[in-house]
Amino acid sequence: MSRKKIGVIGAGTAGLHLGLYLRQHDVDVTIFTDRKPEEYAGMRLLNTVAHHAVTCEREAELGVNHWPGEKWGYFGHYYYIGTQPQPLRFYGDLHAPSRAIDYRIYQPRLMEDFLARGGKIEYREIKSEDVPQISTDFDVVVVCTGKGPFGQMFQHDAGHSPYDRPQRALCVGLFKGIKEKPIRAVTMNFSPGAGEMIEIPTWSFNGLATALVIENIIGGDMEVLAKTKYDDNPRAFLDLLIEKLRKHYPDCADRIDEKEFDLANGPLDILQGGVTPTVRKSHVVLDNGKLAIALGDVHSVVDPVLGQGANAASYAAVVLAEEIVDQDVYDERFIELVNNRRNDRVLGASRWTNFMLKNLRELPVELQQFIGALSQNRALADVFTDNFNYPEKQWDTFASVARMKSWCEATSTTSPLGVSLAANDRRVSDLLAANA
Ligand SMILES: Cc1cc2nc3c(=O)[nH]c(=O)nc-3n(C[C@H](O)[C@H](O)[C@H](O)COP(=O)(O)OP(=O)(O)OC[C@H]3O[C@@H](n4cnc5c(N)ncnc54)[C@H](O)[C@@H]3O)c2cc1C
Repeated sequence: MSRKKIGVIGAGTAGLHLGLYLRQHDVDVTIFTDRKPEEYAGMRLLNTVAHHAVTCEREAELGVNHWPGEKWGYFGHYYYIGTQPQPLRFYGDLHAPSRAIDYRIYQPRLMEDFLARGGKIEYREIKSEDVPQISTDFDVVVVCTGKGPFGQMFQHDAGHSPYDRPQRALCVGLFKGIKEKPIRAVTMNFSPGAGEMIEIPTWSFNGLATALVIENIIGGDMEVLAKTKYDDNPRAFLDLLIEKLRKHYPDCADRIDEKEFDLANGPLDILQGGVTPTVRKSHVVLDNGKLAIALGDVHSVVDPVLGQGANAASYAAVVLAEEIVDQDVYDERFIELVNNRRNDRVLGASRWTNFMLKNLRELPVELQQFIGALSQNRALADVFTDNFNYPEKQWDTFASVARMKSWCEATSTTSPLGVSLAANDRRVSDLLAANA
């Protein structure tokens, strides 16, 4: 067979990890993208992505782990659940560090790596009607242009897309002036009825900053943060934010130095809006018989509350790359084999995230019991925290109430700490009484 030629539309994590793997195997790859590396530094915050340890391990295999976890990483999750009258606080460890690098630094760096390894990049905006023409030059075309309209060339998968609109109004920013906790870690804050807030230690242009991913229930007390513009009056915005943090996420508010607290690099460090969780069909067969394959957010976009989108995109990119290298015929059977391997994780991320979006709103009894058990047993909290690496395992746990109970029992009895759930049950009844 002649040398394989793959066309990739989009230079995000999906396209770059795919392209880098293929270059390691001497495949001829061209990425088409609408942004040059030098444009990223002047752009608005793209997102606030944390790469889990499994993704960092994949980056090491791709030869692009420029930010090793020992120096740049974080080591676990703190949890704060604002139950009344007594909030719950606990911590869980990761098996290896995860880390967050501002994508305005990360993506152009990996584009340079891809070019240095013989990859080609064409800088231009592509439209879906261009895909058939592009495909004539390649064995396969992969579409990974993110959550924008391009992805609509792939059919909506209604069976895996329960929502037709965003489930949270997002206010996401990169801040300075928030003191770190004793262990460098993500903090997941939950305020039942108002929303969630994820604090992520993130490396950006001026060093270490704190990403606040503020996920606001639509119609709730926090939604105003997604609608108030920083640019209209920065001081008023920051005052409003501090007031809302004091009310809903006091552990974060307590660590703010009000004199220093502001966007970390300037007014472009804030992002407001919403994400409609959507799964699309995996491919289309073009009129010339070639495959156009959906990857990353084009295939499945999730709300960022559990930090799964880019990690699943990287996983799926390397699965697809391995199959491109291993196989010689790119037909419907090829994509079936790819889907068999990637979907448990990609759909696991989507199902688990959608489950949490629904159930974190009101914390039903089963979830209260589950959280109560985690809060009382460090071993359970460690396993739950580390399973952010493996969303399919989280879905194994959350897919039914029976599974949630069984996971707590099995994990507790095999836990090195061996703390009995009987102790948790008492704590859980306290929780339930408090919420009654
Ligand atoms: C606030 C926020 C926080 C997040 N936090 C996390 C997290 O902690 N962990 C996590 O795993 N995920 C997180 N995500 C999700 C993550 O950002 C995405 O899942 C991930 O970036 C998707 O990667 P991708 O390569 O599919 O698309 P993208 O990263 O969006 O890349 C798309 C690429 O296509 C190019 N492009 C777009 N349109 C065109 C066009 N018409 N022609 C040519 N090129 C085009 C773009 O320039 C870009 O290079 C978060 C998202 C948001 C919004």
